[in-house]
Amino acid sequence: LSRISTRIRRIKPSPSSAAADRFAVLRREGRDIVNLAIGEPDFDTPAHIRQAGCDAIERGETRYTPVAGTLELRQAIAAKLARENGLRYDPGEIIVTCGAKHALFNALSVTVEQGHEVIVPAPYWVSYPDMVLACDGAPVTVACREEDDFRLTPEALEAAITPATRWLVLNSPTNPTGTTYTTGQLRALADVLLRHPQVMVLLDDIYEHIRFDAAAPQHLLVVEPSLRDRTLVVNGVSKTYAMTGWRIGYAAGPKDIIAALDMLQSQSTSGVCSVSQAAAVVALNTEASFLPDWVALYRRRRDTAVRMLNEIPGIRARSPGGAFYLYPHCGGLIGKRTPAGKVLETDNDVVIHLLEAGGVMVLAGTAYGVSPYFRMSTATSVEQIEEGCRRIAKAVAELR
Ligand code: PLP
Repeated sequence: LSRISTRIRRIKPSPSSAAADRFAVLRREGRDIVNLAIGEPDFDTPAHIRQAGCDAIERGETRYTPVAGTLELRQAIAAKLARENGLRYDPGEIIVTCGAKHALFNALSVTVEQGHEVIVPAPYWVSYPDMVLACDGAPVTVACREEDDFRLTPEALEAAITPATRWLVLNSPTNPTGTTYTTGQLRALADVLLRHPQVMVLLDDIYEHIRFDAAAPQHLLVVEPSLRDRTLVVNGVSKTYAMTGWRIGYAAGPKDIIAALDMLQSQSTSGVCSVSQAAAVVALNTEASFLPDWVALYRRRRDTAVRMLNEIPGIRARSPGGAFYLYPHCGGLIGKRTPAGKVLETDNDVVIHLLEAGGVMVLAGTAYGVSPYFRMSTATSVEQIEEGCRRIAKAVAELR
């Protein structure tokens, strides 16, 4: 009999963390691998933000903070939500968490009970379904189609909703497809949600600033302000400011949910690292003048990868509107045989072949809920992307 709870036995390790571990092992063995599985910006945290962390240490800001985060940080978040998103939240409607991941997990913990369904559009960020399972809920994945740019359609949303639906998780730009929504498309989803008042909306805006379309859409809560009382806005500084290791995320939403999150944190993690909070204040309160250059680079990388992948027979890649991932279709490689005689039956087999024969690491679509695809990160240099694509082409050319 296992000592581990059924709740935890239901979940599996995050494939992205597993890939990072595998990469480290191969590196130690001296293998030359191009890593296109990375889920974080390759830039350093900007100098003024790093300095803010050092300054906080020197000022002695090394003690416990309020559970919900320092007032300064919650004010900076409130100002950011007003300035960038047109949303009004006061600091009492905001909680600081250990990354957006923690906000999402805790939000599900304080609201989901056995029998509740959580709608997760697929391809999805790997953690959503497992988080739901760990909170005793039932993930209801809705497969979105490549011809719709992997967008959740109003029809598919309507069909997935039942009386037991607790949440819709909406992440855009989306990991792993880079899918973005226009204001009109958000309007259409809002119209469906208005018909189903039992459904709450968990918005994961973590990639909001990494987008290539000319104008960002209006925020869902600007499109439909009446959803505010059943929406939790989750965001953080990890991707926009290249601060993944600082672990600062946050949630803004209705007071009862924020109070429950505060209570859970008060009995589990307490407030987030004081030094990171001080750095995040400076990040949010200072103009992100580096961002246009970063986004231009992400765009160049995306264009390079899309062009090179589409030249490879058996692979088809769409050009996403945001984030730093591609989700190419690899159905043309399924059924082919490696020089060693192994038949590639799944996207997992494809990914293993690319790693073993090609020395390039990408992640299998199975982990993201829609196959046969793979996720390729473009959060690395153009040179690495070119080399990675050349290696993929070579490994594919060996197949018969
Ligand atoms: N949400 C999505 C869609 C992500 O891809 C990630 C990180 O990969 C996160 C949330 C987690 O962000 P954080 O570093 O703030 O926990």
